[in-house]
Amino acid sequence: ARFDQFGLSPAILRALTDQGYIHPTPIQAQAIPIVLQGRDVMGAAQTGTGKTAGFSLPIIQLLLEHASPSMSPARHPVRALILTPTRELAVQVAENVRAYAQHTPLRSTVVFGGMDMKPQTVILRGGVEIVIATPGRLLDHVEQKNVSLGQVQMLVMDEADRMLDMGFLPDLQRIINMLPKQRQNLMFSATFSPEIKRLASSFLNDPVVIEV
Ligand code: AMP
Repeated sequence: ARFDQFGLSPAILRALTDQGYIHPTPIQAQAIPIVLQGRDVMGAAQTGTGKTAGFSLPIIQLLLEHASPSMSPARHPVRALILTPTRELAVQVAENVRAYAQHTPLRSTVVFGGMDMKPQTVILRGGVEIVIATPGRLLDHVEQKNVSLGQVQMLVMDEADRMLDMGFLPDLQRIINMLPKQRQNLMFSATFSPEIKRLASSFLNDPVVIEV
């Protein structure tokens, strides 16, 4: 498989060349076309499989293809939200997203707890299309009206099993309730406990199951 077979924009392909990626990993080869079709995904994948690019690349492509109705040079509503259990994972995902989107006009940022809210607030208020966040800190920013989730078109729950283990279920439910009903949902988990299956069936819409 090759990255240039997916119809990704030249700006994305250039970023992949910059990263030194030559071939998609198995999860990327499976996930990229499905996400580009707009389908929901339940992915069984561990870290190290390349799952981050598997969801980030098609999200960036879809954001480039579908300009937001309210998009103007001055306004950049959040259109993709990526939730992670830990700040370490959030930072890692955000570094990947930034690298893959570097030749596009899309803006992204990362928010997580245990750090001063002010610098995050300035960036959120300036407008970003992609937010990578831990759930609790994202809710703090929503409550302070630093960010609105009313135009989110794509939601990713990364390492969903760890989010449940860490007790984030109530926060996840509060966040999901703030999102538009019409949206694409992607969920990744290393394990498939009954709790994960329940979460998946409550918020994924006819998902394609991907296992690597
Ligand atoms: P992940 O499983 O998403 O955490 O990715 C694991 C590591 O593989 C990261 O360091 C990525 O930068 C790298 N990676 C992801 N996709 C590819 C690829 N297609 N070719 C080479 N390296 C990759």
